Amino acid sequence: MIRNSIQVLHAQGYKVTRPRLQVVEILGKAQKPVSPYEIQKMLKQQGRYLNHVTIYRVLELLCHLNLAHKLPSEKGFIKCILGNREGCHRFMICHKCGAIQEYADDKLCRNEKEIAGEIGFHTQYHVSESYGLCSSCYKGELAGNV
Ligand SMILES: [Zn+2]
Ligand SMILES: [Zn+2]
Ligand SMILES: [Zn+2]
Repeated sequence: MIRNSIQVLHAQGYKVTRPRLQVVEILGKAQKPVSPYEIQKMLKQQGRYLNHVTIYRVLELLCHLNLAHKLPSEKGFIKCILGNREGCHRFMICHKCGAIQEYADDKLCRNEKEIAGEIGFHTQYHVSESYGLCSSCYKGELAGNV
């Protein structure tokens, strides 16, 4: 289920300020992970300006509320499409077309916590990315039209 970012901000007691709204809009439009620098550039194209510190703070808040995520390998931020789905939100990245699929599975989290527990580690959250081919690129490779 897709949550409305603005409703979530309200519900969590955060004001919907202009910078927050602008960054939420940019993340919604971007079809790929975007860095704070790219967000600033996209805003500039619309004749708007936010400084880096502000953009970073907004991104931190959005990540904290699970409205966006940071993809470590891509060094960028992406809008969350899973809403409050249980389990840590993870990503599958197609190295051919760049498609990014978000998923979550709380069984996976429980398994990983168990494994960590066996060696005395207390897990707070998981970050994970899988690399490979999305279904259409995989089909393309099978069909031989690489
Ligand atoms: Zn998510
Ligand atoms: Zn692909
Ligand atoms: Zn987890």
